[in-house]
Amino acid sequence: MNSLEFCKDLINFIDRSPLNYFAVENAKKILNENGFKELKENEKWEVEKNNKYYVSRNDTALIAFTVGDDLTQGFDIIGSHTDSPTFKLKSNSEMIDSGYLKLNIEPYGGMIYSTWTDRTLSLAGKVSYKEDGKIKTSLVNFDRDLLTIPNAAIHMNREVNKGFEINPQNHLYPIIQTIEENFEGGYLEKLLAEELGIDKDSILDFDLGLYDRQKGAIINNMYQIGRIDNLGSVHASLMAMCHSKANKNNVLVLNDNEEIGSRTPTGAFSPFLRDTLKRLCEKCGLDEEDFYIALANSYLISADQAHAVHPNFKEYHDPTNPIKMNGGLVIKTAANGAYSSNIASNARLIDLANSIGSKIQKFHNRNDKQGGSTIGPIASTGLGIVSIDVGEPILAMHSIRELGGIEDHYDAYKIYKAFYEL
Ligand code: ZN
Repeated sequence: MNSLEFCKDLINFIDRSPLNYFAVENAKKILNENGFKELKENEKWEVEKNNKYYVSRNDTALIAFTVGDDLTQGFDIIGSHTDSPTFKLKSNSEMIDSGYLKLNIEPYGGMIYSTWTDRTLSLAGKVSYKEDGKIKTSLVNFDRDLLTIPNAAIHMNREVNKGFEINPQNHLYPIIQTIEENFEGGYLEKLLAEELGIDKDSILDFDLGLYDRQKGAIINNMYQIGRIDNLGSVHASLMAMCHSKANKNNVLVLNDNEEIGSRTPTGAFSPFLRDTLKRLCEKCGLDEEDFYIALANSYLISADQAHAVHPNFKEYHDPTNPIKMNGGLVIKTAANGAYSSNIASNARLIDLANSIGSKIQKFHNRNDKQGGSTIGPIASTGLGIVSIDVGEPILAMHSIRELGGIEDHYDAYKIYKAFYEL
């Protein structure tokens, strides 16, 4: 597979993963195809050396691992996140307003609001319902043009291009359709019931988010699609895990809820990773001290996206560390600890990249910009292990469509694969 084919595979993965639930569902399919066996958290595990497994939580987080001959040698871990900024439907979301049916929503994560306007949108997520006396859940993706958030005309606001403050409660209701006065309501329940083939009165709850209907595109040696942050890292690390031939202790972590602070049972603050590693050690006959030896020998790559220099906004970037799109994987460092990269961790990855002929770039925030953070500092603090923050350089992070470099995505995959193999 060359870099273009690999990028098309990413675009396909993202197009099929409109929300976190679907990223995990698609990751499971790929792991199954590559011989990984599913373990359940609420069942006893049978784990053998030189075999590969995965366990998921809440359909939005997943940990896959391969078991080598000696777990005390430590775990080589790559972690990323399955969630991206979106708008979630609130309860009782249907509103009738000025002859339109519209929905009440709330922002999930920090998106660029304006990029969500005038797009053709749809809905996806999870529904719980009662059937045959049992509570069941189903994933749902309407996969059709369903709603849109229209802008106000420039004639109503001639100053709009000088900057307009979008109020997320007042200005962003998605519109479904025009309606007549005799409209009875219940549109959403009916829609869900029809899609799932269930009785609308059996619906107990739902978690539904908006997504862009436009498919990903290749623009010469770049690609454009939503959710590159962070399904780009999910895809690169997942494929590296599946394609690596080594028989050592490799771990792939897909956390949820990074975009809202990671403080959930599926987020990086949860004990999901620690408990999974501990349980694996116990199943392989290691004692508690062996577990701490394994942790002390472990290394975490926190894979999340990075900022390339924007040619139209050069003033936003650090003067001596310009990041080039298609210039290689980026190591992100911050003296304030917002990234986990440091003197203890960076050398191993730089040496690894050098050994396979891959380029590395180094990112620092400007001192007058706060920048972002990742699961890296959280997971490495929780486990007390060496960690590095890396990512592919992109533009328009947290826009409804982001822009990445085709070579960078393939480079990230090659480095992650080498990390799992060497
Ligand atoms: Zn991210």
